[in-house]
Amino acid sequence: MLKLAVFVVFAFLDGATYAQLEQITLTESSTNYPGYSQSFLTPGCRFTPHGVQDVQLAINHLILTNTSFAIASGGHSSNTGASNIDAGVTVDLSRLDEVTITDEGNAVWLGPGASWSDVYAKLEQEGLAVSGGRVGHVGVGGYVLGGGFWWFANELGWTCDQVLEYEIITPARQIVKASATENEDLFWALKGSLGAFGVVTRIKMPTVRAQNVFGGALTYRQDNVVDVFAALQALITKAREDLHAQAYVSFGWLELHKRHVTSAYLVNTAGDHLSAAFAKLTSIPHVASSLRNMTVGESAREITDSNPLGFRRTKFTLTARSTVEAMHIVHAAYLRISASMRFGPDDMLGVTIQPLTLPHLQKGRNIFPLTNEKSPLLLLSAEFRWSDKTYDQMYEKAARALHDAWVAELQVEDLFHPWHYPNYAASWQQPCEEPSIIRGAREALESVRRKYDPEDHWRQLVPGIWHV
Ligand SMILES: Cc1cc2nc3c(=O)[nH]c(=O)nc-3n(C[C@H](O)[C@H](O)[C@H](O)COP(=O)(O)OP(=O)(O)OC[C@H]3O[C@@H](n4cnc5c(N)ncnc54)[C@H](O)[C@@H]3O)c2cc1C
Repeated sequence: MLKLAVFVVFAFLDGATYAQLEQITLTESSTNYPGYSQSFLTPGCRFTPHGVQDVQLAINHLILTNTSFAIASGGHSSNTGASNIDAGVTVDLSRLDEVTITDEGNAVWLGPGASWSDVYAKLEQEGLAVSGGRVGHVGVGGYVLGGGFWWFANELGWTCDQVLEYEIITPARQIVKASATENEDLFWALKGSLGAFGVVTRIKMPTVRAQNVFGGALTYRQDNVVDVFAALQALITKAREDLHAQAYVSFGWLELHKRHVTSAYLVNTAGDHLSAAFAKLTSIPHVASSLRNMTVGESAREITDSNPLGFRRTKFTLTARSTVEAMHIVHAAYLRISASMRFGPDDMLGVTIQPLTLPHLQKGRNIFPLTNEKSPLLLLSAEFRWSDKTYDQMYEKAARALHDAWVAELQVEDLFHPWHYPNYAASWQQPCEEPSIIRGAREALESVRRKYDPEDHWRQLVPGIWHV
């Protein structure tokens, strides 16, 4: 069936080229699509190339045959159609999963199709870690190209700010290197634009030697939420005092248990002790704690367990000024909307508040309009998870209602910020448009696009992504 579909796409090719394409394994994908909206799309064929030459060959022929396609690494995008496609071709990079330690252990080459759990497992054998995702099954490719929020953000900035070099196949079908000294314009444009400039086939990152961290989750009773928000804000305000201390707060409705849950996940990246910066969060009475010494990989495994695959999901993001009042606005709208709904038996709504501290925001050179911020921000995300597809519309509508309530109520108090984090954005949000990119960056990004995609192939043939 798959072979037939491929043959239709490439039928006109001469014998030699078709024989070459047959060498590329065509299989069902091992990519996990955690969001329902991606997994219900059915591509006419799915490529799982083994290496950069295979990808180059495929992109070349997709362009020559005017075939629409999507690029998938880990398949975790919340943007429907970004990494899977109906009727066209999905280029599934899951076999480009190298983890190659280099530069005497100071750096590592990562394949975009590797998952963070594979990356941590390999690096831990050498006593190393890397600027990666906090959930193991997320893919390297999309996570890095969309920014990347990790445990070392307060100290080192976004993951994309850490990248040393990209290898990319441009829409002009050239294999190009982009780094601080080579194709610098492309190097900058790749930081936050989620695949708008070609297919990234390798990413070089510095390693982190201090791989032991002290951290874990604290679970609170719902009536402690006021203290939890105050403690989180205190941590954010003092972010410069301990660059190793990082935390986020989540709350959610679990229909299965018919209750709200509130938790904080704390990590001290300096390892082996509980940072004094966490004193307020740990002094609030809690019903459970998993605080301990662990590796970054163990932390990712713990958070992975609370993010099982297989549910239908919808997710969106917003940004707010960091104040306790903003947290209460977000929480109050969540309570109101969850109380007004009839959830299915296993369903849930989860909200996460993640600090974007000043040390984090003021680092790096990427396309986000955040480096000049004078005050810290809150990265907000909300996700509905459910099983029964007859609820799809209800949850999509509820997500919009929650979004609209947050926007309106934060705006009234002048606490709304217009940035959308690309890695959490829904398909109906616009993270690659102003004001979500640096003011005035549109022209610079367009000139990078014209240089590397002079015939505008990407906008014509890759319909599911956000273009610049
Ligand atoms: C359970 C869960 C946990 C998460 N945890 C975190 C977290 O801790 N921190 C954080 O910052 N984000 C997190 N995210 C968000 C995640 O980083 C983004 O969804 C990310 O884009 C997923 O990358 P992927 O490779 O898995 O997804 P994909 O869907 O494969 O890719 C996402 C986008 O990038 C493009 N793309 C992917 N690879 C390439 C490539 N090699 N070349 C060109 N374009 C490419 C795709 O076409 C698509 O548009 C999480 C998401 C989920 C679902």
